[in-house]
Amino acid sequence: MISTLGTTSSALAETAYSGRDKLIAHSDEFQKRIIEVTDGVYAAVGYSASNVTLIQGKDGSIIVDTSANPVDAKAIMAAFGERVRHPIKAIIYTHNHPDHTGGATVFAGKDKPEIYSHKLLVTAKPDTGRGRRDGGDAFGTMLPDEDFINAGTQLEYGRTTPHTRDGFIPPTKTFGGAEKELTIAGVPLKLIFTPGEADENISVWLPDPKVLIAGDVFLKTFPNIAPLRGLPTRPVEKWVTSLDKLIALGPDFVIPGHMGTIQHAAEAKDALTAYRDGIKFVYSKTMEGIANGKTPDELVQDVKLPEKLAKHPYLQEFYGTVAWSVRGIYSQNAGWFDGNPTNIFPLADKERAEKLIALVGGSDKVLKSAQDAQEAGEFQWAAEQADYLLAVDGKNAAALDVKIRAFRELGERQMNATARNYYLTVANSLKTVRSSDR
Ligand SMILES: [Zn+2]
Repeated sequence: MISTLGTTSSALAETAYSGRDKLIAHSDEFQKRIIEVTDGVYAAVGYSASNVTLIQGKDGSIIVDTSANPVDAKAIMAAFGERVRHPIKAIIYTHNHPDHTGGATVFAGKDKPEIYSHKLLVTAKPDTGRGRRDGGDAFGTMLPDEDFINAGTQLEYGRTTPHTRDGFIPPTKTFGGAEKELTIAGVPLKLIFTPGEADENISVWLPDPKVLIAGDVFLKTFPNIAPLRGLPTRPVEKWVTSLDKLIALGPDFVIPGHMGTIQHAAEAKDALTAYRDGIKFVYSKTMEGIANGKTPDELVQDVKLPEKLAKHPYLQEFYGTVAWSVRGIYSQNAGWFDGNPTNIFPLADKERAEKLIALVGGSDKVLKSAQDAQEAGEFQWAAEQADYLLAVDGKNAAALDVKIRAFRELGERQMNATARNYYLTVANSLKTVRSSDR
């Protein structure tokens, strides 16, 4: 695709940015609203980085997930208004992620609700992260407004209100099995263990009316199976099994952990099934490729969703991508080594770069080639060549210029929010390195 960008055709130029246009349109998913999902069940969408659900009971209310922080939680409480029947009898965390557990104190108020979760939530570890090399940040927390579109599953996370754990309350009641039946405030419900995006994810099932509050095991985007931000590949096989369970429930209504709700049984079945089939397809094709001796790089080229799944609205690559999932599934199951003995003990980056640059005929030739690639619209190739120069001299200003522009161009062509945010945060950070060396 990128190799065609050097042409002057306006039609092609439009195609180049169609990913960004889709990402901009995707922001509509995060519009602030209270959705009356069905009698007595309300979802607050777009008020925070994640959804909060209110379930009215006979003598009180249940809150599922608590938003990212007390500031957002207060806005949601205000928006729910008189729909909240006090006391709050229970708060249920679908999983540990801070954008779901950060506002509990506000919902609890003085009502002393029980706090429910799966027992794995108690020992869940925070993301490893990756030290934000060159400022890289998948959430785009520090990007200037003009560079920022959204964070893939939320309009923003940590840009308006900094990340905090002030509003978290530890669970008071946990369960360890596959499911737990409860009646809270006269409402019969089931907590179902559905690991996927989080190891400890649970879904909340109301049998009458048939409402599924899924947590992050189901979102309107290709799932983030192997995120950029520095954490282990998600448990893919378990994720498929979890979706099997949710499909079998036959919900009439679905409230996902982020973005809008589904209000019809047929749509719920179609979306949950496509989501399951998308994950299953990528998993089985990758495993098949591993068995046939393919490398991760080869599999990234080979594994593409069938057209019907590729076009499905619940599998668009706003948050996760098929390519990263293939790499994640490969390393999760077959380890880091790709099977080519050249890669058992490869040359150090600097040594390889020195040899390649000498082979080509010197740094100037490599730089010229990188700049030419840039002009031809081959931004990935430009960045790769800049990396050879920077491996030898990390302060090579002309190479930094190529890399900065390449990342901006690549970022602006992305429909994936986390890739865009990563490209642009690193481009901006390198710009600072570049100007401080002048
Ligand atoms: Zn989430």
